[in-house]
Amino acid sequence: MDLQFFMPTKIYFGQNTLEQNAAEVKKLGTKALIVTGKNSGRLSGALEEIEKICQNQAIDYTVYPAIENNPSIYTVREAAALAKENQVEMIIGCGGGSPLDAAKAIALLATNNLEDQALFSGHYAKPALPIIAIPTTAGTGSEVTQYAILTDDSLKTKRSIAHPTLFPQVAFLDPSYTVNLPLEITRDTVIDALTHSIEGFLSRRANTTSNLLAKESIKIIGSCLGKLTVLPEIATREKLLYASMLAGIVIAHTGTTALHSIGYSLTYFKGIPHGRANGVLLVEYLKFIAEDYPKEVTEVVNLLGLKSIHDLGDILVSFFPPLEDISSEEIQTFIDITMQAKNIHNTLIIPREKDIETILTNSMV
Ligand code: NAP
Ligand code: FE
Repeated sequence: MDLQFFMPTKIYFGQNTLEQNAAEVKKLGTKALIVTGKNSGRLSGALEEIEKICQNQAIDYTVYPAIENNPSIYTVREAAALAKENQVEMIIGCGGGSPLDAAKAIALLATNNLEDQALFSGHYAKPALPIIAIPTTAGTGSEVTQYAILTDDSLKTKRSIAHPTLFPQVAFLDPSYTVNLPLEITRDTVIDALTHSIEGFLSRRANTTSNLLAKESIKIIGSCLGKLTVLPEIATREKLLYASMLAGIVIAHTGTTALHSIGYSLTYFKGIPHGRANGVLLVEYLKFIAEDYPKEVTEVVNLLGLKSIHDLGDILVSFFPPLEDISSEEIQTFIDITMQAKNIHNTLIIPREKDIETILTNSMV
């Protein structure tokens, strides 16, 4: 057996875990920049708690509370300038995947002078500042990955910074921070986590251990999907947060695949939230993979506790508004951009232009 596995993030999981393990924060320094979204830090309760911990431990901190969804290069540069000006020693990301990814990019830009091209190069002279990740959605798994996804307007898509220096030193996962997530965002984000596990399981880079985690994550999410007709209880929130963490560890090893690459265009050009963009394409993507890998796709469906891809389609249709109003010119643009994405090469069947077109057109009403 040939196996490589690397997960350097120290994970604390459970209700009140931040308060119980507050001493971990001080270990990383005495000056922090806390990075969060406009509302998520406050609505989740996570911002108040981390501020309290900083105050109790005499950690000097500044809050940058303005990370937008799908953060831009401009935003992380602005926050990195603040980090440098205040000579902070650590970056604390608190929020959904957007603030967490932004925190990672800020931590890197605080120690390295990088032009846009160099920012995505994967080669950095100095390690990033230490990062603490406190997720308030259950979806991206960013708290346990070495990726920061930013919107690059020059290429009209989203791009990954990928480097081991971006793994958070510590992640605090408390399901109570996700209790105030509206149902729509709960669904969007859980489907992001599900696609991480499914794409990881169906990745050319999958290994025995990542598959173990992927299968467990798919199974847990499958057991929860039926409950998402209403706001779920904390017990379900806990399962979703755990499953999304497992899914994050999966993609840290396998990367995502063509599904995410196509979804980025739906987010960039159509404003569809990240997880939902993957979700509206998922059924057609699985049908495409099933052409050559029917056994593997059937295993995914069975792990979800379903009988067919069609059953998964019924659930996704009940979650998300239909995909519509995409012109043939737009489809061609999406295809051109997707073909440039490096992650399509992780896909079990590397899609041709025609395949991407089929996935997109068949996903529309
Ligand atoms: P998000 O963009 O971080 O947040 C979506 C919305 O949820 C925002 O309006 C946010 O409010 C709100 N929100 C977050 N937590 C909340 C809470 N507890 N209560 C109420 N509202 C809350 O969404 P996300 O799906 O978690 O992250 C998506 C981003 O992560 C994308 O950019 C995607 O590309 C990236 N991603 C990264 C990885 C990785 O490995 N690094 C993997 C997959 C996806 P605010 O606007 O106030 O923040
Ligand atoms: Fe994702």
